[in-house]
Amino acid sequence: MSTIFLRRILAARVIAAILAGLGGLPAVVHAEEAPWPVRLRQDMARVQQVEWRLRQAADGLCPRTAADIGVALDDRRAYARTDWPLLAQVLGMADRPVVAALTPDGPAAQAGILPGDAIEAIAGEPVEVIIARRRPGPLVADALLEEIAATPPGDPLALSVRRGSITKDIFVIPARHCAARLVLETDRSVDAHSDARNVSISTGLVTLARNDDELAMAAAHELAHIIHGDHKGGGIGKRRRMEDAADSLGLQLLHCARYDAARGIGLFERLRARDWLGFLSAPTHRSFAKRLERLDSEIPSLACPPRPNPAQ
Ligand SMILES: [Zn+2]
Repeated sequence: MSTIFLRRILAARVIAAILAGLGGLPAVVHAEEAPWPVRLRQDMARVQQVEWRLRQAADGLCPRTAADIGVALDDRRAYARTDWPLLAQVLGMADRPVVAALTPDGPAAQAGILPGDAIEAIAGEPVEVIIARRRPGPLVADALLEEIAATPPGDPLALSVRRGSITKDIFVIPARHCAARLVLETDRSVDAHSDARNVSISTGLVTLARNDDELAMAAAHELAHIIHGDHKGGGIGKRRRMEDAADSLGLQLLHCARYDAARGIGLFERLRARDWLGFLSAPTHRSFAKRLERLDSEIPSLACPPRPNPAQ
């Protein structure tokens, strides 16, 4: 899933107007005073944290697993060239990919990686060489995350990072998690969707979500579709059964990722109240009222299977 970066280029210049348009919705504290790159980083950090916890909860259920070190990377090549001076000024982002966010207790943070660290090499290979080999275009950060994901979990992974004027070699022990990632798309509409590999979350949804329980609810539903291998098509009865199953598994993932399921389904309550169309409400979906009723009845019996490796 790669559209985030391309969309980010398109969205960069209009995002101030976008967020002004969302002024009536709950937002990150003081979000309206911060320049757009700072707000985007806040959104990336929230999504990264939800991603870590859901991927962890989904380990053993997903069709594929991958090495996860608990970071979100960012690269200025994902933005319009005219935005580069602002990115340098506000975020200190220069020519190298940087650590945009990291899970506080994740492998990268435990090893001493810090937000803002510029990535110089992965497993001894300079990022320029990796970029040339993978030819990702503006999707440099995605390509580097895929490079990390392909390393054997449990084996120390060497990251060379530039911090200020010094370069540090830091060894990180990746965890093994569900391979599906959460991709943030700069899009004002309230949207979550998935393809066979990854989940996409719009910045509009991140802004709407009152708390991370609600954000995780939407993401977990889409992750459940990936786990079930759901495809579009089929009759309405089949689609409804798929959606019911995704709601139920999503709720369980939410709970097992240690989010508050009762608070999470509050997202549907507010979507219903606001009469949002489009988001998770195609004709194949039941009404938000019916979905809420179903999910609410499932909360008391939520349970998590024991994990083979609770440390990860
Ligand atoms: Zn669905």
